[in-house]
Amino acid sequence: MTEQALSRVALPAHIEIVEVGPRDGLQNETFIMSTAQKVDMISRAIAAGARRLEVASFVRADRVPQMADAEAVIASLPNLPDTIYIGLVLNEKGALRALETPIHELGAVAVASDSFAMKNQGQTADQSLDIACRIVSLAQQAKRRGQITISAAFGCPFEGEVSPEKVISMAKRAAASGAREVALADTIGVAVPAQVSRLVAQVAEAIAPVPVRIHLHNTRNTAVANVWAAVQAGATVVDASLGGLGGCPFAPRATGNVATEDVVYMLERSGVATGMDLARVIETVDWIKRLMNRELPGMVSRAGIFPPATLKS
Ligand code: ZN
Repeated sequence: MTEQALSRVALPAHIEIVEVGPRDGLQNETFIMSTAQKVDMISRAIAAGARRLEVASFVRADRVPQMADAEAVIASLPNLPDTIYIGLVLNEKGALRALETPIHELGAVAVASDSFAMKNQGQTADQSLDIACRIVSLAQQAKRRGQITISAAFGCPFEGEVSPEKVISMAKRAAASGAREVALADTIGVAVPAQVSRLVAQVAEAIAPVPVRIHLHNTRNTAVANVWAAVQAGATVVDASLGGLGGCPFAPRATGNVATEDVVYMLERSGVATGMDLARVIETVDWIKRLMNRELPGMVSRAGIFPPATLKS
């Protein structure tokens, strides 16, 4: 192959996976796991290779009963030197609550469209970013890590298309605030690969050297293709959820987050290291299925590993 042809198929050697099943996944499921079951799930994910995990959200327990035990979960987690636990925080009150715990990293959220931001939190897009930047600075003052996710970055359930320029300018402000990483989230699962390639490349260039993370939902069956597009366009961190746990609040019958096992299979077999052991990821997904007594949307956990020789005993 020529140099030029090779450069078109260039892939990163390594991608970091953030396991979001214990928070984003469970928060959008009707099944409520006990604290002990959540800790078990997180420990199994760590045993499968996860080193950065979203484990709780500091939101009102009356609104999100699935996350009511955030403090108890964090207090029970194994304290490992190379493992980062993330707590989702939507406002200053949540940040202060999170900082009372030993959580390593706060994940803040800004919303790319005014209508979505207004409906969710009663704010404009810019106001949601102001609060996210404030959360990052609170995290820094407390010597913790802080990052910002821009949600509805690829489409809004109320406004339709979202302006890429708006997302890029928000990402720049997020990076300038000291966020250690900026994520683009396809909250409602409408993104397609060409759009992901363009927006990830533009944002990565605009905020370099701050890394771009990608958060994708498989609502319209494009999530794995979108992960591929994002990785080729310069995203270095990918959110994924064991089994594809987590629905979509705007499409009740739709599937949720892209499944960890599907992302790990695709990347590892393509020569991109994830640090995850696929066989153990699938064992963990099977454990969740037995616990919830239902099938989950991830596909590789149903079809199995290929080639079979990669199965570890
Ligand atoms: Zn999600």
